[in-house]
Amino acid sequence: AKFQPDATTTMVCGFCSTGCGLNIHLKEGRAVNLTPQTNYPVNLGMACPKGWEALTPLQAPDRATTPYLRGKDGKLEPVDWNEAMTVFTERFKDIQTRHGPASVAFLGTGQIVTEEMAFLGALAKFGMGMIHGDGNTRQCMATAVTAYKESFGFDAPPYTYRDFEESDVLVFIGSNLCIAHPILWQRVLRNPNQPEIIVIDPRKTETAMAATQHYPIRPKSDLTFLYGLANILINQGWINPDYINQHTAGFEDFKKHVQAFTPEMTAEASGIDVKQLHHLAETIHQGKRVSFWWTMGVNQSHEGTRVAQAIINIALMTGNIGRPGTGANSITGQCNAMGSRLFSNTTNLLGGHDFKDAADRERVASILGIDAGLIPNQTGWAYDQIIDGIDTGTIKGLWVVATNTAHSWINQSSIQRIFAKLEFLVVQDMYHTTETAQFAHLILPAAAWGEKDGTFINSERRIGLVKKVAPAPGLALSDFNIFKLVAAYWGCTELFAQWRSPEVVFQIIKRLSHGQPCDFSGILDYKMIDAAGGIQWPLQQEEKLLDSERRLFGDGIFYHGDGKARFIFGEPREMSEPPDAEYPFILLTGRGTSAQWHTQTRTAKSAVLRRLYPESIYAEINPSDAARRGITASSWVEVTSRRGRLKAKAFITSTIATGQIFIPMHYAQTNQLTFPSFDPYSRQPSYKSCAVSIRAI
Ligand code: SF4
Repeated sequence: AKFQPDATTTMVCGFCSTGCGLNIHLKEGRAVNLTPQTNYPVNLGMACPKGWEALTPLQAPDRATTPYLRGKDGKLEPVDWNEAMTVFTERFKDIQTRHGPASVAFLGTGQIVTEEMAFLGALAKFGMGMIHGDGNTRQCMATAVTAYKESFGFDAPPYTYRDFEESDVLVFIGSNLCIAHPILWQRVLRNPNQPEIIVIDPRKTETAMAATQHYPIRPKSDLTFLYGLANILINQGWINPDYINQHTAGFEDFKKHVQAFTPEMTAEASGIDVKQLHHLAETIHQGKRVSFWWTMGVNQSHEGTRVAQAIINIALMTGNIGRPGTGANSITGQCNAMGSRLFSNTTNLLGGHDFKDAADRERVASILGIDAGLIPNQTGWAYDQIIDGIDTGTIKGLWVVATNTAHSWINQSSIQRIFAKLEFLVVQDMYHTTETAQFAHLILPAAAWGEKDGTFINSERRIGLVKKVAPAPGLALSDFNIFKLVAAYWGCTELFAQWRSPEVVFQIIKRLSHGQPCDFSGILDYKMIDAAGGIQWPLQQEEKLLDSERRLFGDGIFYHGDGKARFIFGEPREMSEPPDAEYPFILLTGRGTSAQWHTQTRTAKSAVLRRLYPESIYAEINPSDAARRGITASSWVEVTSRRGRLKAKAFITSTIATGQIFIPMHYAQTNQLTFPSFDPYSRQPSYKSCAVSIRAI
């Protein structure tokens, strides 16, 4: 009877970008249990293990229930909000006085609601004078953002999840959908067309095992492979000239570019023979509705933007876009990465505007009722540049909100040394025990998903509702209310006088979206989102919501001035750290399970989820490599790179090719090995390959 619910409400899940709808069962207004929503257009009654366990991390004993301040003895001691905010303001202002406003920066997240992201970005840049701020979405989605902006004229994933069910050929590039987006994989399984499922991935992932065709290309040969594929499609005449002529620009240059990528040359580079390449091209040609899907295998690469654009180019030249079951479709990572892409005020000025455009600054300022002179006329530094800025002494103060840099940043072992240089580090998080919190001078206790209101935007551009269904513990406050406190203590409350509640801010960001490709000014309020089961942007003022699942570019008109999509391409570049005699293996990293989320910060709190995944770090190694090195199943091995080493259990499996090793990203040690290289256009870290050695211990 203690857990017998007396009411039920609905909201979206707070882990991944799928954005599943959940029924939250309440007793006396507090969540006691949950079930997946059967009528939500995303998940149709399903949830993955993380979703089922979404309420458990709220109860963890290491929740931050009070602010903590590090004393002279180096220990973190509880303090009240007045002291925390006084110290926050004095220390950051003192740094800015001595070193200039840009000497304090922030690192945000794709995990808080859009209204909070907008508040953080506006407060930091317009209220506190910061120039530099970025989000952990740089680690997952920056590549797709850059690729879409250049190719389509706006960051606009064009699809709806219904496309999974309407394709007759689905091509997954660097995506292990089965476990990274398990509910979306279920949507694939609902496809009634007996589709060809093609996986292009060096590993024989769970998705590759279930596919009808798997192309285990050599790591980082993807750009050459896709250009070689385009070469065959063009030279066989398996393209759509009408579509190319009417809706695109730059095809002739692309055609010339890919002539060098002959089938023979592509086979040599990728390890996929010419016959197989032809078979893949022919499968795409024969498909009436071909959809292309990519995730982190593409994005987290030293040349990810051009790889993403190679995928876009193939979709464009075969006319596979804007129709049911088609598209060049990036599936995003975090629950609100899409909100961050538009409203975090980092890469874009709020609402997909441009910091460098004076008219955009004026427009945003007039909507917010502030002086346009408060808006920086430059884009701030990306995540890696902020970290470098700390290292070189330019950045002295850092405010980290709901992300775990000390675990997730590439070449993690450098972080300890670099964070030690900060004069003042503030960590705002629901737990006081994260790896990053261990470096903090001040910890601000934040409410979690389920303890506050707001909206998320999922991968298919669907705006979904998050609700307060549990009280935050102790003195913890919603991020929104923490930002209000900061504004008050900083002395810039008047700039945010109208930012009274998340729903009021939703109305503000709605106005910021008006006239932009992401225009959702047709959404009246939270109630309308709830009633509709989430609403995809765009939905313009007065527009009727006729279909709950909508895709973009059905009219063939893109967001560039001439309405045409662009073919963009470049020369493939060498892998950043190729294997050699000393470090002869290529380390691949990625998601290892659907039961854990990223750094396990929340999901490791669930005993159920812990049982679904090994607590001890493991390394996948091919049987012949293991035999040559005397490594036996479940024995301990040492994996070493030029930056660090770790001890892992050997998982001997032929799903990994010889010369390669796979270690999941969920473990704290994994990024001690990774090599800090970045895509030059998106500045996204290249987590997916570096050189390592392995030995039995
Ligand atoms: Fe759905 Fe993702 Fe939540 Fe799992 S984690 S229930 S797939 S939104």
